[in-house]
Amino acid sequence: MARQYGFDTLQVHAGSQPDPATGARQTPIYQTTAYVFRDADHAAALFNLQEVGFIYSRLTNPTVAVLQERIATLEGGIGAVCCSSGHAAQLMALFPLMGPGTNVVASNRLYGGTIQQFTNTIRKFGWSAKFVDFHDIDAIRAAIDENTRALFCETIANPGGVITDIDAVAGVAGEAGLPLIVDNTSATPWLCRPIEHGATLVVHSTTKYMTGNGTVTGGAVVDSGSFDWSASDRFPSLSEPEPAYHGLRFHETFGNLAFTFYGIAVGLRDLGMTMNPQAAHYTLLGIETLSLRMKKHVENAERIAAWLEEHPAVREVSYAGLPSSPWYGLKERICPKGAGALFTFALKGGYEACVRFVDALELFSHVANLGDTRSLVIHPASTTHRQLTEAQQIAAGAGPDVIRVSIGIEDAEDLIADLEQALEKAMATG
Ligand SMILES: *Cc1c(COP(=O)(O)O)cnc(C)c1O
Repeated sequence: MARQYGFDTLQVHAGSQPDPATGARQTPIYQTTAYVFRDADHAAALFNLQEVGFIYSRLTNPTVAVLQERIATLEGGIGAVCCSSGHAAQLMALFPLMGPGTNVVASNRLYGGTIQQFTNTIRKFGWSAKFVDFHDIDAIRAAIDENTRALFCETIANPGGVITDIDAVAGVAGEAGLPLIVDNTSATPWLCRPIEHGATLVVHSTTKYMTGNGTVTGGAVVDSGSFDWSASDRFPSLSEPEPAYHGLRFHETFGNLAFTFYGIAVGLRDLGMTMNPQAAHYTLLGIETLSLRMKKHVENAERIAAWLEEHPAVREVSYAGLPSSPWYGLKERICPKGAGALFTFALKGGYEACVRFVDALELFSHVANLGDTRSLVIHPASTTHRQLTEAQQIAAGAGPDVIRVSIGIEDAEDLIADLEQALEKAMATG
């Protein structure tokens, strides 16, 4: 029997083999838009989806295909579609499920850009989102109606590092016959594999920890392969005849790969939110060290959060990795290896102290990103959340006195020294 490889082996090897043409050990960047057909029959079979192969890089590319298989394997899924960004991946996850007049029931604790995409932009397709507190299971049940096509949440939601009880939410989705989509960007499959907790689909912004080095934007949609798309009439894109492929039914034809095939053959073909092979290359390089980086990210974050909690200038630290956190119990069940490396803390000195603090930091970079090897900081109230009222900021966990940090993989002592000198300057009045 074939050996079941562990995570550290799979993050290096899954989906790749020495290049069949040259023996190149690292996955080559197949910088090509098109692929020569063997003959007219081969071309016809590819276009009819009777044979799997490469036609045109808007749909498939060998470098991107390696990354797709690697991410699917690490998440414990059956297939994955890579996209040009995390936001593209979210649309690509919804696209096969939704139609005009349908809605997605989403957690009210989501990445700010996702709230924006779901509140305004998806309306242009005739889709809508209903936001509810995903820790209130009855509220989720009450929000689901006959036009709901999916539930959507994040494993670890920022700011504030709130953990979602994925098992409980998957239970509600199961009762309602709906797929559960989980954004696993902040956790990565090393800290949590949502499919093992009942998720149907997992989405990623590979821009963050998966690549890890802040070089390229990218995204992925992973399918668990476990949802029965033909059990109801709610998912006609997958269960009913597809006119563009001579009436082929994706679910009937491709079985548990239906969602992934539809994502490529219709989603990428017609929406074109494709990942390019250069981006796939950078992400493949990064993903080889995912577990090593995440271990260090978490170790540093736990140490720094505990240090901040004791600091006299700090009012409160919101990090599920601290035993004092209300989310610590859920963290032990959903992501026992750690709560990630993104968290918030509040300064007693309020808005002005926060601005001085961010300006005084030397090693931390002031940027609107997260999940980099470098430590990053942002003051949401004066940047990402500045358009909101103070009440809205507080509701979003981003009040005027809140700082968000994404802890990198530097020496914890150096990061603490930087935080210490900046806190001193932030607290000095006048
Ligand atoms: C960054 C991020 C996104 C969006 O990803 P992009 O690659 O920036 O498009 C979505 N969800 C979460 C949790 C993120 O951190």
